[in-house]
Amino acid sequence: MYTDFQKYLESELQSIKDAGLYKEERVITSPQKADITVGKGDQVLNFCANNYLGLANSPELIKAAKEALDTHGYGMASVRFICGTGDLQKKLEAKISEFFGTEDTILYTSCFDANGGVFEPLLNEQDAIISDSLNHASIIDGVRLCKAQRYRYANANMEELENCLKTAQAQRHRLIVTDGVFSMDGNVCPLDKIYALATKYNAMVMVDESHSAGVVGRTGRGTTEQFNLRGKIEILTGTLGKAFGGAVGGFTTGKKEIIAMLRQRSRPYLFSNSIPPMVAAAGIRMFEMMSETNKLQDKLHSNTEYFVAKMKAAGFDIKPTQSAICAVMLYDAPLSQKFAARLQDEGIYVTGFYYPVVPKGQARIRVQVSAGHEVEHLDKCVAAFTKIGKELGVLK
Ligand SMILES: *Cc1c(COP(=O)(O)O)cnc(C)c1O
Repeated sequence: MYTDFQKYLESELQSIKDAGLYKEERVITSPQKADITVGKGDQVLNFCANNYLGLANSPELIKAAKEALDTHGYGMASVRFICGTGDLQKKLEAKISEFFGTEDTILYTSCFDANGGVFEPLLNEQDAIISDSLNHASIIDGVRLCKAQRYRYANANMEELENCLKTAQAQRHRLIVTDGVFSMDGNVCPLDKIYALATKYNAMVMVDESHSAGVVGRTGRGTTEQFNLRGKIEILTGTLGKAFGGAVGGFTTGKKEIIAMLRQRSRPYLFSNSIPPMVAAAGIRMFEMMSETNKLQDKLHSNTEYFVAKMKAAGFDIKPTQSAICAVMLYDAPLSQKFAARLQDEGIYVTGFYYPVVPKGQARIRVQVSAGHEVEHLDKCVAAFTKIGKELGVLK
């Protein structure tokens, strides 16, 4: 029965390999942190995790998770509305609302689920979704599940957004959707301008804060802090899997009627398990830490500034960034792979990206800076980039 399909898959897989696009997994055997152990025991400095605040191995979060294992057990074994809602999940939702200055919050097992379950319950064929062309795959999939009219504008292009909004006056309700930080370039969405256009054309706004929460804004409250729009945006989504500890979990937070409707009709909430108590407990502790001190954000911001300045001084072409993402432009796909491989020989762990993940001719190495990095780590990274840059003819 399987024979034909097996042949078909083998040939498809081979064509992915022939195109040089076959993704291999690299195995990490230590906890996720600045200096990790990979493969057969190589020590490398990690510059490609979403661990922006260095919390993935935080002793305080581990302690909170362990305590919850003892007090609340291992799993919930239920969706939320049957018997999967515990005091810890409720408390975490309240903490998220407090952090973002929003009215209410609903948890999911991932932000992929939050985005997959946000559009279909709220909008139908009478409505319009206006989406940035570089939005995350989970937003694209979520929009596909919804019957609303679809509009798309070029990344952060406000002229195109305005044109979409004009046409979308034909629909009943309008929702503009954007990533807070675009993960390949590290640019922040122009939320002030988006908000002004939304006001002018009677539209709502949704921001996916996955790469911006914890990172952008002086205290890491995300794009609404950066643009002084706290409490003004109808829908925010985000993940607990990046800056916020890096385990698992996602959320939608915003206007209370929107969240109430999601609790009634959002399918990944109604038909998928609750996050485990230990993850909720560590999340609660994490948001407490965020309100006690700003030292992780301060360190992340100074680390990023330091790194970008050093890389520019070394002669690298760096995309303008407003986040902890630093795109080192190489333009050539094979060069990006060779460069990343040579960096790993030098003990620097990064990933080279090329088409179709980024546009053709825009190959790059994406460096992600963390509050978990020390200045010595950043210096080692710049020195390795400089050495390999000279070796491969990128630097003079
Ligand atoms: C990482 C990411 C997601 C997915 O988050 P998970 O919680 O890992 O599912 C969604 N949206 C954006 C913009 C992301 O960067």
